[in-house]
Formats: sequence, structure tokens, C-alpha cells
Amino acid sequence: MLSDIAIAQRARLEPITKVAEQIGLGPDDLELYGKYKAKVASHVWKRVKSNPDGRLILVTAISPTPAGEGKTTVTVGLGQAMARIGKRAVIALREPSLGPAFGVKGGAAGGGYSQVVPMEEINLHFTGDFHAITSANNLLAAMIDNHLHQGNALGIDPRQITFKRVIDMNDRALRSIVMGLGGKNGGVPRQEEFMITPASEVMATLCLAEDLADLKRRCGEIIVGYTYSGEPVRARQLKAEGAMAALLKEAIKPNLVQTLENTPAFVHGGPFANIAHGCNTVAATRLALKLADYVITEAGFGADLGAEKFIDIKCRLAGLRPDGVVVVATIRSLKMHGGLKKDELAREDLDALRRGSANLLRHLRNVREVFGLPAVVAINRFAADTDDEIRLIKELVEEAGSTAVLADVHAHGGEGGVELARRVVELVEEPKDFRFVYDDDDSLKTKIEKVATRIYGADGVDFSREASRMLKKLQSEGFGRAPVCIAKTQYSFSDDPKKLGAPTGWRLTVREVRPSAGAGFVVAITGEIMTMPGLPPVPAAEGIDVDEDGMITGLF
Ligand code: ADP
Ligand code: MG
Repeated sequence: MLSDIAIAQRARLEPITKVAEQIGLGPDDLELYGKYKAKVASHVWKRVKSNPDGRLILVTAISPTPAGEGKTTVTVGLGQAMARIGKRAVIALREPSLGPAFGVKGGAAGGGYSQVVPMEEINLHFTGDFHAITSANNLLAAMIDNHLHQGNALGIDPRQITFKRVIDMNDRALRSIVMGLGGKNGGVPRQEEFMITPASEVMATLCLAEDLADLKRRCGEIIVGYTYSGEPVRARQLKAEGAMAALLKEAIKPNLVQTLENTPAFVHGGPFANIAHGCNTVAATRLALKLADYVITEAGFGADLGAEKFIDIKCRLAGLRPDGVVVVATIRSLKMHGGLKKDELAREDLDALRRGSANLLRHLRNVREVFGLPAVVAINRFAADTDDEIRLIKELVEEAGSTAVLADVHAHGGEGGVELARRVVELVEEPKDFRFVYDDDDSLKTKIEKVATRIYGADGVDFSREASRMLKKLQSEGFGRAPVCIAKTQYSFSDDPKKLGAPTGWRLTVREVRPSAGAGFVVAITGEIMTMPGLPPVPAAEGIDVDEDGMITGLF
């Protein structure tokens, strides 16, 4: 089989103006970025906002393993398959971060015959949104340090600045640095940490903003640090929000591209799914719902992180109501959850598969019983999967009262997802009893405890003294009604990445709590959370090249 990039480069793309026609958008509704990418002009929302909403379908997955799950691939394949059965569907995905493309192999625009294109551009600079977010973030950072340099009228404690600089690159050398070493005219020396752009609070803020005015207001709310007397200092006290919003005025407009089969796809916003909420923008999802009968969207990592945050943060804050959930699983990953090593996955092993399926069944139960949503399991087919293994998963899922459908969209595109598409069309008509995991009125502590016990399967939560102090402080500072965003390892239901499957008999430890006031949630940090990745011994960058005509190779 060809590589992802080779398949993408052989695709017959339609001009984006033609793709837009499928969802009722004319040339005046688009701001073109070349022939195959466009932003949707802001006047479109005013025109369509009273249209009825289409059905909202969330694609999520089991806890990720190095064997790979393929959520984006299945999301794109399902969108393509919907079109094949004559349904008007739109895909709504996150934008990839540029840094990881040069690290470990693996793209973020789908795979095989289920990709969004032009993949090189989507994976690299795209329409510049990440650059705009990086700039807005670092403008605020520069204004903080300038404030210190110019006399620090607000009395900001340089040791309590919480707002960090970002760059869209995997660069571990920037994880912890000392800056301001240029003498009297070189700023105030202090310790700084760089994060990668998807971890920026500005990213989460943009993704949850209603429109440009709301984005500006939210940027002003960002807490940059604390004064010597412990009072929070906000971006608006530095008069930064107007300039930040000016930098973001294009980035907030949804980006339209297409799949390999010319299905319309919004690819917009890219927040992490641990320290942030892990789904594409509210602006793009809302617009997609007005333009199509079915909107298929993906949330990051496993359903304990991405789906929970999609529901408890994004849907809650934006008033969205999902209609059905696709839980992606692979035989390979489930065998890893059952104890096999990565080099043992090629052979059939029904016992390991049965053990590992506990991970899938817990996620499935959470979606159906905690969120109250109808769900189907999509088995993302890999070449080495055996018939007996596929049969076993189907049986186990049926015993649990649901259905599992084979999705062969990596090898066959939309054609390989027709059965899944038909099932999804039925699924969204089934009765549901949609619920959040916690109520707005629950205390921040109770919210964390409810997610930990109901979704993760923890026996309870232990809070560090620092976390308890911060929770009390935030509760009294007016954050009590905010949703919580738990930063946890994606590899396990627990806060220990080595506990695979469906661990029981453990407690969650919350180490640190911090407000994300622009985004409007409170982050609770468990375990070691990486906000600045590094590069591996042999980075993918070494194999990436471009010829004199601008043709990129080796991107995955
Ligand atoms: P996720 O969204 O869950 O992170 P992706 O859809 O981005 O996963 O897929 C990760 C990688 O795995 C991609 O490089 C993709 O090409 C590959 N992949 C996905 N599904 C399959 C499959 N069925 N067979 C082979 N490779 C696959
Ligand atoms: Mg993905």
C-alpha cells in the first residue's frame, strides 16, 4: 500500500469553491487561501444561524496505545461513507500542530484512503491559525515582562507568573529556561517554561469563543499571574486583549478543506486533550451543524479524556447536544491492553484480546450509562486482524448490549465505511438520556471526584495540600461554577500510564490546580503532564524533503 502522503498527492481534489457548494456556500462566502483551502466569512453565520441543527456524532476511542487507534482516519472515513449512502455530512476536526510532524511518525489528517487534503499544508502552516495563536500568546507574554521592566506598577510577583510562552515545535530545551539575562536593559531575570502551541490558554480560549467580541473579552480574562499580595492579575489589566484579538481575527474563522473523496471538512482549532479540552472550535462545529444533516467530529485521546471534555466542557459551554457516539477500537491496541508487547501483535491471541477488551467495555459503558448516549463500536481494521479476533470483539460488545461494526476505511475509503455509516444513521434516531457527569452547582472538588469515580473508575481522589488550597481560593474567587479539565495520562484510565486495561482499586492524585480563565475552565493536574514534547533519537524531520517544484516527501 502507498504511504499516506503518496495517496494524498494522487488525490483528485476539487476546487474548494466547488466543495463549498455541497453545503450551500457560494464564492462570496469564502475567503480563499489558494485553490483548495478557504476560511468561511463571518457573515455566513448571521445568514444560517436560525437553520435547524443537523445531527452531531462524536468519534472517540479506547485508551491509546503505541499500536494506534485511528480516530481521525475513522472520522474521515465515516464522513466519506455518509456521502456514499446519500447523506449530507460534514466533518469537523482539529488542526494538527506542526511540531509533532517532525518527531515521531504519524500524521493528524487521517490515514490511507481516509484523509483530509491537502495533507502537507494541513499538517504544516495551513491557514496560519497556529502562528496567529502563537503570536497572540507571546504578545501577552512580552507585555507581562515589559510591565516588570517598566516599573511593575501592578506589583506582579515575577515568581508567580503563570502565563507561559509557546512555540509550535517539539523542543525540550525550552522546557525550563532562565530569561532576562541581558543586564539593566534586558528585562527582569526570571525562570520561564515554554509550552507547545496546542497547550496555550489562547488556543483553548479561541476554541470555545462564540465570536470575535467574545474572544476579545475572554482574552482579557486570562490570569497571567499573581501580585506580591496574592491577587490575580488579568490580561485586561495589561490592556492586552484588543491587540491579542486583532492578531486572532482571521484565526477564529473556520477553515474549509475536503477529504480524498471531496467531502467537506472543517479543520479548525487544535487544543491538547489533557491540559485543555481536546476538540475543534465551537465556531466550526456550530457552523457545520447549520450546513449539514450529519456532523462527524473527533475528540482527542481516549473517551475518558476527549469525550468527557467534549461533553462536560465544550457541549456544556456551547449548548451543544450530541446525538450518538462512535467508539473506535483496534484489535492490536486491545491486545496491548491485554498485556502483549508491540512486537507480539502480528499473531492471533484471543486470550489477550479478551483481557484487553475490558478497556473498550468500560469506555462503552461510560458513554452509554454515564453520558446516556447511543453508541456503536467501530473496529478499525488492520491487515493482520484475523476473522476469529473480529468475531470475538463483536460477541463481547453484543454481550454488553451494543454493536460493533468493522470499519475498513483506511484500505478502502468511504466504501469501507458504508456499514458503519448505515448503523450511525440508525443510532442517532435511538432514544437517549443525555447527561453531563456533574452539575454546574457541584463544588470544584465534587466535580473532580465525579469524573474520577464515574468515568475513570477510581475509588476516590487525593488532593495535594497545594491543590486543596488552590481549589478553596478558586471557589471563593468565583470559579465555582466552571467545568473542570483534568490533565491525566492518556494511556490509562488511572493516573499511572502503566496500568492498562480497566484498572480498579486505585485513587486519583490531584497535584496542582490552576484556572484557565479565558477558556472558562479550571485545570486539575494529575501525574506528569508533558506540555512541551521533545524529538526522538531519529526525528521524522531527517526523512522529510522537498524537491525544486515544492513537492514534499517523507512527511509520513
Ligand atoms: P488518532 O486520530 O486516533 O490519533 P489517526 O487516525 O491519526 O489516529 O491514525 C494514526 C496513524 O495510524 C496514521 O498514520 C494512520 O495512517 C494509521 N492508521 C490508522 N488506521 C489504520 C489502519 N486501519 N491500518 C493501518 N494504518 C492505520
Ligand atoms: Mg486524531
